[in-house]
Amino acid sequence: MRDHPLLFDLGPVKPTTRDIADRVKQGGAAALTEAERRADQARYQEVSCRSALNRVQGMPFNWTLNPYRGCTHGCHYCFARRYHVQFEMNSDDEFASVILVKRNFVDVLTAELDKPAWTREHVALGTATDPYQPIEGHYKLTRGTLQALARGRTPAGLVTKGPMVVRDRDALGELARAAGCTVYMSVPTVDDDAWRILEPGTAHPLQRLRAVRELVDAGINAGVLMAPVVPGFSSSRSKLERTIKAIADHGARFVGCNVMYLQDGTRTHFMKFIAREFPSMAPRFEKLYIKKYPPDWYRKEVQGMVRVLQERYGVSRREGAEDTPVPERVEEPEQVGFAW
Ligand code: SF4
Repeated sequence: MRDHPLLFDLGPVKPTTRDIADRVKQGGAAALTEAERRADQARYQEVSCRSALNRVQGMPFNWTLNPYRGCTHGCHYCFARRYHVQFEMNSDDEFASVILVKRNFVDVLTAELDKPAWTREHVALGTATDPYQPIEGHYKLTRGTLQALARGRTPAGLVTKGPMVVRDRDALGELARAAGCTVYMSVPTVDDDAWRILEPGTAHPLQRLRAVRELVDAGINAGVLMAPVVPGFSSSRSKLERTIKAIADHGARFVGCNVMYLQDGTRTHFMKFIAREFPSMAPRFEKLYIKKYPPDWYRKEVQGMVRVLQERYGVSRREGAEDTPVPERVEEPEQVGFAW
């Protein structure tokens, strides 16, 4: 491994994500001696990336953009936890406390969008990290990304739990006019207990909904993803109804819904979390999540209820799948009751 300059050194060379993965593999997160620890106690490690546009398969879009890796929002169900494992970091504390910042992300993206071969396909932001987690206030990489996309006339969908997105309504508007842009605010539930337990580092759900209101008022196509609905925490009919009513009251242009899925490192983390904090629920989760998704008919029952409530409160269903920045892979169904 080559030597690297200190974090925030003005020298041009930053370690790559692979360099960082190697360091962590050898010495754990403690080996990141250059990472800056900020007031939120997370460690921020600048890295340089070789590419920004990331090709994906099996999703409703072909390209993703993630200027950061890891997320201080620390949602226990986060499907991106498993990506941290792929880079030698654990899916528990390190996912939420060791954040990689791709310092040259906007420059690399700009160069990629300038290539004649780029066909201006739709891209999805925020599939593996929240582009408006607090550190974005410092680096503004997401803002730069939106501006680069507008210059490159490339349409995008963006998913976030960060009300900071309102800061960039001008850039979002510019992108919408240049190529098309949709903001998907993630608000799985407005239930206070479920929010505190499951999404410890996020803004209050109503704060997120107020951000949706502000974006819609600014002419941005913004709606809500009620995802994931977490069995036993946010899946009751009364909680679903309160959430959809609040979404409608805040003027969201659409709402989509999906039930939690658990895979690899995300599953490991979530099951450990449940066993530690809510041991009496653990057997039910083990039964419901034999596969990555709960059984087909469980999901259909939740989504059917959501559909009825959408009709009742007059909020449209989510737009076409091509705009959807959330992976929705369906596993084979098995029979388990809608017990929660
Ligand atoms: S905000 Fe999104 S990316 Fe961040 S931890 Fe929560 S689900 Fe994961």
